[in-house]
Amino acid sequence: MPRPRSVTGPASLRCRLPRLSATTDLLIYSGPAVAEAEVTRTGGVPSAPAGFGWPRCAACGGPVEFVAQVVLDASAILSIFLCQNDPGLCDEWDPVSGGNRALLFRRGDLVPALVPDGDETQLAEVCGIEVRPVDADGYEEARGKWSAETGRSEAEVLGVVGGARRRGCRTTRPRCARSARR
Ligand SMILES: [Zn+2]
Repeated sequence: MPRPRSVTGPASLRCRLPRLSATTDLLIYSGPAVAEAEVTRTGGVPSAPAGFGWPRCAACGGPVEFVAQVVLDASAILSIFLCQNDPGLCDEWDPVSGGNRALLFRRGDLVPALVPDGDETQLAEVCGIEVRPVDADGYEEARGKWSAETGRSEAEVLGVVGGARRRGCRTTRPRCARSARR
């Protein structure tokens, strides 16, 4: 079985993602999704090569949580994991720490991964995501513009593809628009 290839840095990731130059690519909530579907979504079961070994955190040694997968194009899917065994203590939001993983899988014969036992391996909900390019510079501006143009709530914007993390920004795990309104 071919080993999954790790995404080594922002440049390698950026070149695989669609349209990042003049626009901001928002991640929009698009309703409930099937947990094992090979689509862009948060939560559920990762679409992975047969025999895929679930990644473990380099800091605490426990299995990491599957957060999301992004279908990049017809040939590749990006699978994203974060450690939630001891939130905040495994540097899980540090892009180069061992508390997270971004794995690139070649599409064609992916299957639902075998999920290991543990309370912190999957999100509580499965949400479909649509990647929507918006002609705006930066997340806040793009989110406001998208909301004004569509009449939909900013709470339905789950995040952004690419860009840099803002200093001092306290980030949380993605939540569905549905749960965000609770
Ligand atoms: Zn950990």
